[in-house]
Amino acid sequence: MEKLILSEEGVFPVVYDEKGQLIKDCPKTGMQISGTVQGEGKLAGVPSLFIRLSGCNLRCIWQKEAGDFCGCDTSHASFFPKKTQTVDVSYVFNLVKHNIGNMRHVVITGGEPVLQQVVLAKLCQRIKEELELHITIETNGTLFNEELCKWIDLFSISPKLRNSIPSPEKLAQYDIDYSAPFKMHAQKRYNLEVLQSYIDLCNSSNKELQLKFVVGRNSDREEIITDYLNKLTNYHKEDILLMPLGANVEELHQSSPLVLEMAIANGWRFTPRIHIELFGAKIGV
Ligand code: SF4
Repeated sequence: MEKLILSEEGVFPVVYDEKGQLIKDCPKTGMQISGTVQGEGKLAGVPSLFIRLSGCNLRCIWQKEAGDFCGCDTSHASFFPKKTQTVDVSYVFNLVKHNIGNMRHVVITGGEPVLQQVVLAKLCQRIKEELELHITIETNGTLFNEELCKWIDLFSISPKLRNSIPSPEKLAQYDIDYSAPFKMHAQKRYNLEVLQSYIDLCNSSNKELQLKFVVGRNSDREEIITDYLNKLTNYHKEDILLMPLGANVEELHQSSPLVLEMAIANGWRFTPRIHIELFGAKIGV
């Protein structure tokens, strides 16, 4: 049977298991209910259930304006996926069914969820056809799969700027070897053809997208314009979002003023990271 590989938190936050039985442990949100809010982007604040898939084709490590480094905030699902769950589509579907309550939104995230495109498409089809939920997929915009796209309502695409490249200097700081997956990041992170495919699909359907750039340095502005906005066509300016770099409250507060000013000066949207403000840098919130 075809399987999905989920990260350790899998479907979250939940209070019922796949059979609909109450789980003893309280979710990491500290609330005795399933669900959280979407923390980022156009749907920030919307009650949502999350599905986190394991594995990523990129290895982001950024440098902040002040010079220090900031790694992927879901490294347990990207760099070092240790505690994974290999599960059937029906297991994930049943968890969603028993925990969705009054929520109408499911967010599929990672890692890079499109890596598991074939099996993920089957899960999304069931969620759409049997539960009629709104589905957001959070992707780094390097992979595109037509069958999967059929079932998605909002593509939350976060293209990775040059600053995300894990140089040997950055890796040394984290005591990580400069191995093949880290070397490949620079080649894989930038795929204009894939980004244009998402834009064209949304323009010819009732689907939506957001291009959510993680920004940590003033020089990111020029790259967004030169490498993306001057080359992509038929995108809508209101779909361009800037998100401050940072995996915890302190880092977010450091980078937010620069990003807020850049967003306002260019007429782009600023997105907070509400879940970090509300729950801190925890897994499963
Ligand atoms: S693309 Fe996303 S999940 Fe993958 S390494 Fe970068 S920040 Fe982490």
